[in-house]
Amino acid sequence: MYPKLVEEMIEQFVKLPGIGRRSAERIVFWLLSNPKEQTTEFSTIMLRLKENVRFCRQCKNLSDTDLCRVCTDQHRDRATICVVEDHKHLIAIERTGTYKGVYFVLLGAISPADGRGPDDLKIYELRERIIAEKIKEVVIATDPDTEGEMTALHITNELRPLGIKISRIGLGIPMGSSVEYADLSTLTVSMATRREL
Ligand SMILES: [Zn+2]
Repeated sequence: MYPKLVEEMIEQFVKLPGIGRRSAERIVFWLLSNPKEQTTEFSTIMLRLKENVRFCRQCKNLSDTDLCRVCTDQHRDRATICVVEDHKHLIAIERTGTYKGVYFVLLGAISPADGRGPDDLKIYELRERIIAEKIKEVVIATDPDTEGEMTALHITNELRPLGIKISRIGLGIPMGSSVEYADLSTLTVSMATRREL
């Protein structure tokens, strides 16, 4: 129906999450109807994003520098680490504006169904960091679903011998739900009412 190049571009956009055929067509026509500079800017930033954004050396947060903004912020409480499953969860907690500690991003959760065990989650690295930086409290903010609870239990068992305070985010987030989708006030309450394990 369309020229080959138009069709190829539509097919590329359809690969993106949340973009259906109709939306892809609209984006391609938008590109065609706007000045070339706009497309150049779009593709340049996309390439720069891919080349420069990486994981923070310390916490595995997304960053375009060696250490992320949280890790380089001198006003953060460096004795408290919040453990989250991924970047979207970190952002959700940052949006509450109430947490002043630092983070450790697991980049996943224990999931036997997906063949992901404790060794895939860099919990060894977390343990090393807690010892090296004299961390006093670990707040486990994994999701309250089966995988998240399994992960929380494993981390607790691994860190227990270190004798530090270990807490789990509390009230409000329904079982089986996700930190990512909790609304701001729920997540704020959940962080504030974290319970010691
Ligand atoms: Zn970091």
